[in-house]
Amino acid sequence: MSEIHRLAVVEAKVIDGIGHAPQEGVTVLIEGDRVVEIGPAGTTRAPVGATLIDGRGKFLIPGLVDMHVHVYTPEKWHPEFFLAAGVTTVLDLGGQLHDLTAYRAAVDSGDRPGPRILFTGPMLEEGEVYAGFAGFCRRFDSTRTEAEVDALADAGVDGIKLYVTVRPDTARRACARAHARGLPVFMHQHATWGAEAAQAGVDSVEHVNVFGQLAPQGFWLAEPAKLNPFEYGGWLWRWLDDLDPRADAVRRLYDRLIAAGTALDPTLVLYAARPGALGDDVGDTSMDDPERTKLLPLLPAPVGQELVGRWAERRAAAHGASEAAKRRMRRAWDNILALVGGFHRAGGVVLAGTDCPNVGIVSGFSLHRELELLVRAGLSPMEAIMAATRRPAERLGHRDVFGTIAAGRSADLLLLGADPLADIRNVGRIERVIARGVVYEPGQLLRGPRNV
Ligand SMILES: [Zn+2]
Repeated sequence: MSEIHRLAVVEAKVIDGIGHAPQEGVTVLIEGDRVVEIGPAGTTRAPVGATLIDGRGKFLIPGLVDMHVHVYTPEKWHPEFFLAAGVTTVLDLGGQLHDLTAYRAAVDSGDRPGPRILFTGPMLEEGEVYAGFAGFCRRFDSTRTEAEVDALADAGVDGIKLYVTVRPDTARRACARAHARGLPVFMHQHATWGAEAAQAGVDSVEHVNVFGQLAPQGFWLAEPAKLNPFEYGGWLWRWLDDLDPRADAVRRLYDRLIAAGTALDPTLVLYAARPGALGDDVGDTSMDDPERTKLLPLLPAPVGQELVGRWAERRAAAHGASEAAKRRMRRAWDNILALVGGFHRAGGVVLAGTDCPNVGIVSGFSLHRELELLVRAGLSPMEAIMAATRRPAERLGHRDVFGTIAAGRSADLLLLGADPLADIRNVGRIERVIARGVVYEPGQLLRGPRNV
């Protein structure tokens, strides 16, 4: 790693994240942590003494944003992996403020290479907290909803995360207060059902729980908040195969989300694990299948061992399933992709997130797979890139800070060896990562987490 004050990426093909057609022969000038100029190579001259990076034949895209992570605990926090995978910003959607503040400080001070960390602080619950995630939640009295939001806003959070027991009226009050404080609201829905989150003012619904509203009559839940997050996921798989993604009810749900401006962060990588365990092709950058991953040897041993163990469990469970059960699982997976694609085609905003370090999710690299799955769902490669660059920045109120390549923005850039618009998997062909003006070589980040 070297601290660079003046840097120029010369004659690259730029995909700016705004959605403009790619521009060839562009030079990007960086000073400190900012892009200061961008223009044709012929007229955009690097200042004397600038470090030059040859961009000829290469592609420059904005650094990626993972919109759903949990910085979590020290043994599961791998900031170097995020950077090596080109993820220059993460949004933590549930953790304790003192941990998050410490992790952020370690990255911001340069002590440890890593992505910019934005966070919501603890996930807010008005009912009983699921024991498995108690460390990441805070239970509050709904009569104090505004005070709770204010306390987090005063502590400097970047958004508010509402969790499974929060009911529609509480969600509405939390959203009103959060918006008054300039903060977006993210929600993992159980008690607040389907489009109720949109009506309440939620800015992004997480996972595919919003589609729970489409359950056939026999599957309706009397008390969805009584299920823990894993049970709710299992419940979706029990009937999603039966859904017709072209049904009027689906279209009405899209319309209500879109009318309210609610985005969808589907975290498809979480759901892909089930068909993946059957041996189905759910993405070439699969990280949870140790036989297909190239990164496994580079992972810290306990992380690699956990992945291998979990994968073996999943395989065994999948092999034990009946042929009929496998067919239903595949239909459910196809429907998940169809619902996400349909929402996008109807005009909805889709965000890219992974829920790292949930089971089988690898820091940074799982976002490449998420982008691949978004393309399978029906987003173009350009739109998938925007789901991990411009859209997150807009949703977080930071459109002028990061997420796109333009003068004045943070110098968060990826130099790719191949065209990501021709094949979204080329997002993984990273030759250089520039994060807030500092240049990294991915291989070096992976080899020596503490010594780059
Ligand atoms: Zn999560």
